[in-house]
Amino acid sequence: MTVPQHRLLKTEIPGPRSRDLQARKLAAVSSGVGTTLPVYVTRAGGGILEDVDGNRLIDFGSGIAVVSVGNAAPRVVSAVQEQVADFTHTCFMVTPYEEYVAVAEQLNELTPGTHEKRSALFNSGAEAVENAVKIARHATGRQAVVAFDHAYHGRTNLTMALTAKNMPYKHRFGPFATEIYRVPMAYPFRWPTGPERCAEEAFDTFVSQVHTQVGESNVAAVIVEPIQGEGGFIVPAPGFLRSVASWCAEHGIVFIADEIQSGFCRTGDWFACEHEGVVPDLITTAKGIAGGLPLAAVTGRAELMDAVHGGGLGGTYGGNPVACAAALGAIETMRAERLEQRARRIEAVMRPRLDALAAKHDVIGDVRGRGAMLAVELVEPGTLTPNPTAMAAVAAACHQQGLVTLTAGTYGNVLRFLPPLVIGEDLLSEGLDILEGAFASAL
Ligand SMILES: *Cc1c(COP(=O)(O)O)cnc(C)c1O
Repeated sequence: MTVPQHRLLKTEIPGPRSRDLQARKLAAVSSGVGTTLPVYVTRAGGGILEDVDGNRLIDFGSGIAVVSVGNAAPRVVSAVQEQVADFTHTCFMVTPYEEYVAVAEQLNELTPGTHEKRSALFNSGAEAVENAVKIARHATGRQAVVAFDHAYHGRTNLTMALTAKNMPYKHRFGPFATEIYRVPMAYPFRWPTGPERCAEEAFDTFVSQVHTQVGESNVAAVIVEPIQGEGGFIVPAPGFLRSVASWCAEHGIVFIADEIQSGFCRTGDWFACEHEGVVPDLITTAKGIAGGLPLAAVTGRAELMDAVHGGGLGGTYGGNPVACAAALGAIETMRAERLEQRARRIEAVMRPRLDALAAKHDVIGDVRGRGAMLAVELVEPGTLTPNPTAMAAVAAACHQQGLVTLTAGTYGNVLRFLPPLVIGEDLLSEGLDILEGAFASAL
């Protein structure tokens, strides 16, 4: 690993060179494109981001769950270098190449279920979700799509409609795509009658709302994140996903698992659905798939994926050969280094420390997640009232000490942790020390 695996603070965060670049950014880049922490990165690897001022920050974000194999992971780098020197683009729809087919084979093998599968490749998560909906509609001849409270599925027109949160994703960007219906999520921490009956009551509400407001026979697909990402790392109450999936099967409705954030070893399994034994009809992947190169996919039952007429799916860049080579390098890394086991180990280290932190600070209302996809939800002590002010103070204190943490949540009150799965345990525990210090100093 070329980047030393030690935190190093040479300047305040952000330092002078980053501040200069941020001034250029503000003058050149649309203000609609925000930045969580304006330190400008020059190189990164393992659990470290190095910036233009020579600071080295501990990475608890992985570029939003993307570089699970680490930044510039050796197998990804060499696969990309070889591919980029051979050819960079032909368009798979014009003259194809093996790398695309090989990625599809890997996806068909690795995703849940032993049934016959097919895959199609795209550029971004939102594009994969759009295509999953196209496939489900085409295959069923139905139009309605059911999505959940707190869902995040992207920023294109159809995926904005599927996304639940107004600010910043939807505000003044309408009108949105039609035939989207929203139902409650089985969110244990905020379920009105408490967590015990959450799965059962949420499922009853789901069934009743779809029946009365949409009609089962009008529904093409139900789309759900097995652990919700931007919505705040909400883990649906145990059993809920299984009930929804089997109800979909009864009614000929396509069950789409959006594993764009939770997939590729992040939660301690290759895919988060596996934890509940749920086999989706279609699964969308992106983020962790290619070690940082833009790639996304829809994988699913052959009879659904092959229902679409030739030429009905695709795009100029979808399954670009360089991105495919990166994906093959990333998947090989996950297999060789057993990164799903690493995610479990990260949980084993982090979870007890987050629980201890919650016992000490009553602003922490909930600790949740699985594997290396963990979060704390902050509230006014003793209540369920969201506490975004405390979250912002803790996040800022972490950033000042050189720990990159991300935030999330419908109410802007969740700190989420997504370390690269290859992070060293010394860095992981130093990051947790900083987090503990941030709670002590900021609150
Ligand atoms: C990030 C994300 C998307 C959108 O992916 P992009 O590549 O940003 O378009 C969709 N669904 C989930 C669950 C995500 O986390």
